[in-house]
Amino acid sequence: MNSIDELFEPYIQLEKAIMERTSDWIHLHCGLCTACCCRADICEEALQSAFLSKLLIKQGLDETELDNSFGWLTPKGCSLAYGRPPICHAYFCDSLLERLENDPTRRVISLLGLLIYHVGEKALGDLHLTEIEDPAALEKVDFQRISKQLKEAQNAFRAIDEFFQTNGRPSPAARNAMERIPPYEL
Ligand code: SF4
Ligand code: SF4
Repeated sequence: MNSIDELFEPYIQLEKAIMERTSDWIHLHCGLCTACCCRADICEEALQSAFLSKLLIKQGLDETELDNSFGWLTPKGCSLAYGRPPICHAYFCDSLLERLENDPTRRVISLLGLLIYHVGEKALGDLHLTEIEDPAALEKVDFQRISKQLKEAQNAFRAIDEFFQTNGRPSPAARNAMERIPPYEL
């Protein structure tokens, strides 16, 4: 992988797969939330980011579609099919996590929320891939690093699937794949 263009498809696939795993649980509880944590300024980060902007363009969106008050939020939830700022996947409030059955499940779901962030960590010096604002700078990112992190995130995603398929008893290889993702605090 040596061009930013090659990153789009696997990134989109991973992001959509992550959303698919959490969507029922999130819709059930966030849909009734009286203190929704979505904020228009977080929505705007998708437009400020050169990388995420390209993902918005791929789904036919630009700044003209962003609602001044509600951002990308609609009565049915976030309208972005992909290209959400990483924090949108990583944030689960305590009351949402408390609805899960036990601590190992809470830890694994929290890990799932960090995978998209992990892909872009330190893409250009200390800048996260989604923090780069200059489109030209996207060609200067550390592709080797991002490719490695993407692979780690994909492996961890499969390991998380294994966790659920085995009722919380994944193989040592799957545990090892999950441990490759640092405990980021976003
Ligand atoms: S994560 Fe928590 S605070 Fe945010 S919308 Fe869902 S239930 Fe509400
Ligand atoms: S999930 Fe969507 S609507 Fe909510 S803050 Fe993120 S981009 Fe905005």
